[in-house]
Amino acid sequence: METLLQHIAEITRNRDHDLLDLSVISALYHMTEANQVRALEIVPVRDELFIQEKAWIKDGQAISASTAGEEGEEEKSSLTSYPVLLDCLHRKGPEAMEVASSGESILWMPIWLNEKINGCIKLESDKPFSSETLQVIHGIVEVYRNYQGLIDYSERDSLTGLLNRKTFDEKFARMASSVTGHERHNLSPEEERRLSSESNESKSNWLAVVDIDHFKRINDTFGHLYGDEVLILVANMLKSSFRVQDRVFRFGGEEFVILLRSVTLESARKALERFRQTVEQYNIPQVGKVTLSVGFVSITAETPVVILGHADQALYFAKENGRNQVQFYDELVAIGALKSEAANDDVEFF
Ligand code: GH3
Ligand code: MG
Ligand code: MG
Repeated sequence: METLLQHIAEITRNRDHDLLDLSVISALYHMTEANQVRALEIVPVRDELFIQEKAWIKDGQAISASTAGEEGEEEKSSLTSYPVLLDCLHRKGPEAMEVASSGESILWMPIWLNEKINGCIKLESDKPFSSETLQVIHGIVEVYRNYQGLIDYSERDSLTGLLNRKTFDEKFARMASSVTGHERHNLSPEEERRLSSESNESKSNWLAVVDIDHFKRINDTFGHLYGDEVLILVANMLKSSFRVQDRVFRFGGEEFVILLRSVTLESARKALERFRQTVEQYNIPQVGKVTLSVGFVSITAETPVVILGHADQALYFAKENGRNQVQFYDELVAIGALKSEAANDDVEFF
């Protein structure tokens, strides 16, 4: 019992989703006979549900997709490959059990937040789960559900459900400190930027600023409620266009920021371009077509304010050159379309 309480104390010590996932699957792994425990994210993409691993156990330790590097880069897979879980979700059931062809017992525990499916805990065990074990699992998962609801409330924007501006600094700092591709500690920002933009092979982290084109017109023509509806639709397209290890924020009115983790320049550009096209092609009931402009930049050792400033410069270049396009800061500087501003931490942008 003491250990269970210690695990609960550990779970509720964290105000961060990644750490919460890790402490919960670690508690479930140590308090039950399960030989694998996974935290899964479930995301709707149009009319279909997709599943992606957020955290799992490796060599007795809980690891998270956001720090696992290459092995955490699995694609989302359709929930149609998991009929037992899918049936449970359709019934809005609290859990589902199945025995795999290997004889392994699998327990699915969906996590519902505000009536919406948010994720799932999956436990795998060689032996069937005893009723005592099931009680422990139910208790821990209930703490997880409640606590996730609390964290979500403080981290998310209430209209779109995206991460709010307040959580940006912390998520940004975490991403900036994860070294990818090259050992970059000793490089100057200029050298880093050159490396990121010259070598298509090298992986980097990226920051993109997204702004809806002529959004004011939508509000003026159709009213604020329709404007809000467009924001929700664009936010949903953002959620389904990027991977779990990426982060999407609503920064202000109709402005969004995306942190893309550990991809090559070409992949980052492709992902942003695909998102831009998804929005461009969507026919919003009553409102019609909406477009957006994007500016992006590689994340270097510079401060968040400077990096955001550069992405903003690229965004404004897109706005001034026809809107509905993705622009890359480093490239604009290289071709002389933008002037590289020296980093100046004394300037207050916000
Ligand atoms: P541009 O293409 O240059 O970005 O033009 P724009 O009209 O999108 O740019 P601007 O920044 O002038 O307009 C943004 C508008 O977004 C102004 C404001 O009325 C509206 N807005 C801000 N927050 C919200 C919100 O939460 N809901 C709605 N409906 N509108 C909002
Ligand atoms: Mg704006
Ligand atoms: Mg705008």
